[in-house]
Amino acid sequence: MTTISVFSTDPASVNCAVITGSTGSLIVDAGPFPAAGRRLAARAAQLRGDSPGAGGIDLVITHDHWDHCFGAAALLEATAGRALASSSFAADQEASAWLALDSLRHDPATAEFAAELPDDPGELVVDVTPVGSTSAPDGIDLGDCRAEFHVLEGHSTSDLVVRLPEFGIVFTGDLVEEGDPPQAGADAALSRWVDSLHTILEFPEAEVFVPGHGVPVDRGFVQRQLADIDGMRHRQDDTEVALPARTMPGDHDRSVPREHRLR
Ligand SMILES: [Zn+2]
Repeated sequence: MTTISVFSTDPASVNCAVITGSTGSLIVDAGPFPAAGRRLAARAAQLRGDSPGAGGIDLVITHDHWDHCFGAAALLEATAGRALASSSFAADQEASAWLALDSLRHDPATAEFAAELPDDPGELVVDVTPVGSTSAPDGIDLGDCRAEFHVLEGHSTSDLVVRLPEFGIVFTGDLVEEGDPPQAGADAALSRWVDSLHTILEFPEAEVFVPGHGVPVDRGFVQRQLADIDGMRHRQDDTEVALPARTMPGDHDRSVPREHRLR
């Protein structure tokens, strides 16, 4: 039986996930710092128990922003698996790590956290197996669950979503954000972002979308966020325009750290 757990970790209350199938496991995103990556690796090993597929546990990274990938090197050291990501991630991760480390150290809000990170950004860089090219894997088989990778763009230049067709679940990275406004930084491209959300909504089976931050959302939420980003795209010259924060209706556990079992 496949189990799927989502872990939310500070800083940034970022979501990572562990998918445990009958013959393999996959971790989605590595968290914001090395200790978070090690914790995820340990929890993934625990969830897998002594399943017959015991070997390295692979990691797939949704994009090259620090909160999703700075735990990767420590995680992979513990799991002995591969790091799967877009080819843009592979090309840009080193430069992105330098820039992010520098800005985390100089922002008073994150300086204390940044002290836990290595001095050398090279220590945060990992060997990547790029997905999405003709010769590379576009998914992996976990036994009773297939995970498909779709390389998209918009929130960053390296976005990738993880689709579990059997279960109607999609891990969207920061192409979707719940609770806080979607973050459109210098590496965002709004028209590509809109296209990517259309692509995700074209997955006919998809019912549950796990955002990069916040609680899982439904199709209607993704449609509203698409409309927000499309609206911003049409009014980019208006500096007053900002993307709104949207929240899923209903009661949700928003404590951090938390582990939320999807199945
Ligand atoms: Zn993020």
